[in-house]
Amino acid sequence: MHCRFCKTKLTHQVIDLESCPPANAYLTNPNLVEAYYPLQVYVCTNCYLVQTLDYVSPGEIFNKNYAFISSASQTWKQHCEDYTASVINKLRLASGSSVVEIGSNDGILLRCFAENQMNVLGIDPAASTTDYKEKGLKLVDEFFNAELTESLTLKGVKADLIIANNVIAHVPDVNSFVTGIKRLLGSKGIATIELPHLLNLIRYNQFDTIYHEHFSYFSLTVLKKIFSTHQLKIFDVEELSIHGGSIRIYVTHQENEITETDSFRKILEQEAEVGVETLEYYSHLQLFSYKIKSDFLLWLMNTLNDRKKVMAYGAAAKGNTLLNYCGIKKDMIPMIADVTPKKQGKYLPGSRIRIVDESAIAEYKPDFIVVLPWNYKTEIDQRLANTKEWGCKLVYLIPELVID
Ligand SMILES: [Zn+2]
Repeated sequence: MHCRFCKTKLTHQVIDLESCPPANAYLTNPNLVEAYYPLQVYVCTNCYLVQTLDYVSPGEIFNKNYAFISSASQTWKQHCEDYTASVINKLRLASGSSVVEIGSNDGILLRCFAENQMNVLGIDPAASTTDYKEKGLKLVDEFFNAELTESLTLKGVKADLIIANNVIAHVPDVNSFVTGIKRLLGSKGIATIELPHLLNLIRYNQFDTIYHEHFSYFSLTVLKKIFSTHQLKIFDVEELSIHGGSIRIYVTHQENEITETDSFRKILEQEAEVGVETLEYYSHLQLFSYKIKSDFLLWLMNTLNDRKKVMAYGAAAKGNTLLNYCGIKKDMIPMIADVTPKKQGKYLPGSRIRIVDESAIAEYKPDFIVVLPWNYKTEIDQRLANTKEWGCKLVYLIPELVID
């Protein structure tokens, strides 16, 4: 395979997480046959874009059964409200401004802008048009790429603000995506893009954030190269604690005279210091991930041998990467609780662990709960505080095995 951005042949492997099914392909029946695909990440030796090798087609990953619903998390809801207030203020957006969100999911963020009298449009192939109509929001239920924006701009759509949160990593053709942003952005428009920062993946062994639908893992250094190739410039960056350490970049047309901020320069310097453009930087992730796997399996086998009860919490995509890489099946962890009604009653891909609602926790009274979405630790610790009544302990695995 060749690099998604610069087309150099990919030769340098960062990590091999073995074969697993797509992470969001939840099963309705535990006996269904699943397709397994290799999960391998490479770094381009020319531009240093870190990327997953292609084995699964995007249509197979993002369909109407795609189970990620953003409103399910309180942390996310708060994040959306804070973002809306801050961006309206920072960019001095007037009412009537045109706001386009790529990957708008259930429309939670667009609703915040609509409440501020902005003209909003969501673009998301996995969203439901009926849901949007009920909420009074406009939706284009297609993949965002260069062709789509050509037809949108012909219809006169130009955006004062383009938002793309946790979507650029999910794009197989990054050049087509950035071309689309260039076309759709009004002459003085700004795009804000949130994405997990590569530095945290490497620093905190977040190998479970790797799955087939995450095609790229970006440093600011490589993002700068990609956007400038398409006559766009990044001029500001904010660091966010959400999702285990994300960045929000601010992008505008290259010809707009906006000076680069100190925080933009600071993060570039930090990346140069750790060596994001050296192969050495990527050489430890495989070994550290294997260490987490062996620590977890040793602990789990000993715990089950002691006749203790173990269940899991949070049926998120990242949990599936971890469980499948560790070879966990339902005979080791019989159930996983999750708050999303759409997931309950289904089974995790690969491990085939049954997804139950939270009330099952108090009925089962486990001795240990393995919490998979470590990025929502504060919220989940509070939700599960009542399990201390019967002496239950919470187990976290990233960045290392911790039991408390
Ligand atoms: Zn490249």
